[in-house]
Amino acid sequence: MNIGVLGAGQLGRMLALAGYPLANRFTFLDTTGHPSAGIGDVIVYTDRHHLLDDFLARVDLVTYEFEHLPVSLVQAIEEHKPVYPSSEAIRVCQNRAEEKALFDRLGIPTPAYRLVEHADELEAAARELGCPVVAKSVTEGYDGKGQAVIRDPAEAAEAWRVIGHPQLIVEAFVDFVREVSIIAVRGRDGQVVFYPMAENVHVDGILRYSLAPMPDLDDAVQQTADEYIRALLDALDYVGVLTLELFQTRDGGLLANEMAPRVHNSGHWSIDGAVTSQFENHLRAIQGLPLGDTAARMPSCMVNVIGQEGDSAAILGIADAHLHRYDKSERPRRKLAHVNLLAPSHAALLEKVRACAALLPDAPPPRFSFE
Ligand code: AMP
Repeated sequence: MNIGVLGAGQLGRMLALAGYPLANRFTFLDTTGHPSAGIGDVIVYTDRHHLLDDFLARVDLVTYEFEHLPVSLVQAIEEHKPVYPSSEAIRVCQNRAEEKALFDRLGIPTPAYRLVEHADELEAAARELGCPVVAKSVTEGYDGKGQAVIRDPAEAAEAWRVIGHPQLIVEAFVDFVREVSIIAVRGRDGQVVFYPMAENVHVDGILRYSLAPMPDLDDAVQQTADEYIRALLDALDYVGVLTLELFQTRDGGLLANEMAPRVHNSGHWSIDGAVTSQFENHLRAIQGLPLGDTAARMPSCMVNVIGQEGDSAAILGIADAHLHRYDKSERPRRKLAHVNLLAPSHAALLEKVRACAALLPDAPPPRFSFE
């Protein structure tokens, strides 16, 4: 089976690493001009039709690891090869307004929000919702890009100018206890399996730590998250891995923030920490194979390596530490690698996380809600 992947970054690289034992081959279609997968065959797509024909001729089915692609390109591919998840999933997930509308339709709670198309509307929304609010571009934002926190309605004009996008979503600022995510996989036959939820620590809009399972998570909260993501999977007739990021509030409730129609950074812990990784399960799902067990082997934490590589040899000196490097050059805010740490107890795990963070330049102090 030759799998075509739209996008050619580290997520594609890790998909390929999970697929080689299944005798999968990979052809990546890069639309950014900067592929970094460093593995498989890479086609850099530049609107030249023969490149798309070449891609289609090589692959049996198509998936993606990057959702900021023209929907028309995915639809064109869909006319020739099976695409999982479908172009409809990508269309919804690349637009925050569409995403929120789907959450609303399915009864999945979100922070209060407004859509605005003018600086004055932004100011009015900030007044109505009550500051602070978070303004986000409706499309193209990720890792905190295209966003601004507005602490006073008077700041709206400046935020509008800085974001520089024709349509924004404005959300009430959630006083969350923690940020969490749920990752689930739906097979071609509609079977769904769920990973244990992860607690995610973001700093400056970038994920730094993901820990799963959480030691203090009520089963009822996991079940609620499972229900939300199942509703999304079924509504989109989705095949593959879907990620839903949520805020957990003081009363234990969950508010949906955003979803990603792909394997996700907050699921990287599963490579070493779960019986079957998110990458392998995505490949199983899209090929119509039985889905693997999603249980955690042990308390696990993923530490992102951002900007600078740090002391890789010393990190590997930590017991049960697994370093996954993406073979990229160092650059501020760039995701270069991650470390998966496993330990039999959460206390022992936190010690390892602190030891690992100390070996990474500029890693923020690891702090989790349950400590
Ligand atoms: P996003 O790109 O929507 O995931 O936002 C990036 C980060 O900004 C999130 O992980 C949160 O840390 C923070 N954030 C986004 N929206 C809100 C909100 N409505 N309330 C509080 N924090 C938020």
